Amino acid sequence: MHYYSLTNPSEKTNFATAVVNGIAPDRGLYFPESIPKLPEDFVASIEELDIQEMATIAMLPYVEGDIPRDELERIIRNTLDFDFPVVPISDHIGSLELFHGPTLAFKDVGARFMAQSLGYFNAQKSSQNVTVLVATSGDTGGAVANGFLGVEGIDVVILYPKGKVSKVQELQLTTLGQNITALEIDGVFDDCQDMVKTAFLDKEITSKRKLTSANSINVARWLPQMLYYFIAYRALASRKQPIVFSVPSGNFGNICAGMMAQQMGLPIDHFIACTNVNDAVPTYLETGKYNAVNTTPTISNAMDVGDPSNFVRIQKIYGNQFDKLSAHLSGYRFTDEATRAAMKEIHNNSGYIADPHGAVGYLGLKEYLNDHPGKYGVFLETAHPVKFLDTVEETLATKVALPSRIQTLFNKEQKSIPITNYSDLKAYLLA
Ligand SMILES: *Cc1c(COP(=O)(O)O)cnc(C)c1O
Repeated sequence: MHYYSLTNPSEKTNFATAVVNGIAPDRGLYFPESIPKLPEDFVASIEELDIQEMATIAMLPYVEGDIPRDELERIIRNTLDFDFPVVPISDHIGSLELFHGPTLAFKDVGARFMAQSLGYFNAQKSSQNVTVLVATSGDTGGAVANGFLGVEGIDVVILYPKGKVSKVQELQLTTLGQNITALEIDGVFDDCQDMVKTAFLDKEITSKRKLTSANSINVARWLPQMLYYFIAYRALASRKQPIVFSVPSGNFGNICAGMMAQQMGLPIDHFIACTNVNDAVPTYLETGKYNAVNTTPTISNAMDVGDPSNFVRIQKIYGNQFDKLSAHLSGYRFTDEATRAAMKEIHNNSGYIADPHGAVGYLGLKEYLNDHPGKYGVFLETAHPVKFLDTVEETLATKVALPSRIQTLFNKEQKSIPITNYSDLKAYLLA
């Protein structure tokens, strides 16, 4: 498969180079040259495939030429070695729990797939060391750090906004050591993301260090997320009902991967993008005009993104046509107050504890299903509630037990380097 830059279609490369570069030399996001179609009998016989086989069929065309099939199978085995259950919340709503991985958020899948792919490319070439430079609004950092911990030839540098990630998230970023360094940025997530983007274009840095990104702009982080939709569809196929997915969205990588699955032929009925008050995309869907917003901090902090990177990919999928896009996608925004009310409602009705991100997804799903009855709705529960312990316990007036792998983090020493501006970051990377 070849990938081209969305800002210059003649800028083409293979999967391996797209992964190592992260972003195209002209700053465009990479996009596959064609969207592969699923084999003809795939959907009809989906329940007979095991998850690993299904995932290999879905992913192979995207890596073909750079990762052989047996290597892809190994990567997928190591990536998908935990459960992705659809837990019923009511008779027409299920929660797709994506938090059973090592850092308790959905980003584990993309981060592990990318780390394994990059590890494979490095082993092939015994090439120069690569520095993974990544901005996090909370969960990316932990997943990337965990996925890359101890991977030969790779250093990971994580930028996170000071005071704007939860305690558990901060511990996951700052306690690993080895090849992982955490930088605490005096700013918001978009500042972290801007600094990362600037560093990629800084010749003084890139002439000394090979940089790549592990945000969902990286195709190896972004594309494997489509597997959630395959897994959920497979689990629900026997219902024989139209299936809609409601995705709590920040950088819009997860939902965009779902749209790729739909384009490949997975029969997804509709997508619902749910945001907190950082609502550039819901506003676009109402007005047809896209404007970045200034980031506002919320209790669903992994979605505090004012200018979602993957929106350009979503537009590309639908041929940059507003009508086509809005036929497949509905958008809703919710305040923190509404989010807390939803957490209580879910808990009161079913005993289920949703994290703030999942609750935002639930709210949008409920609104959509009110207007479109007869469909089965899945909201993506993107993080374990303990990742947002204070908010969850305070909102529900209940205690949430800490899994032991989180408990042990509290005894570890935290290390991070304070950064106030881009020149601090540059000095660090050049040192
Ligand atoms: C990253 C994240 C999101 C947003 O995902 P995008 O792919 O950036 O849209 C939502 N919820 C949680 C818990 C996350 O960590």
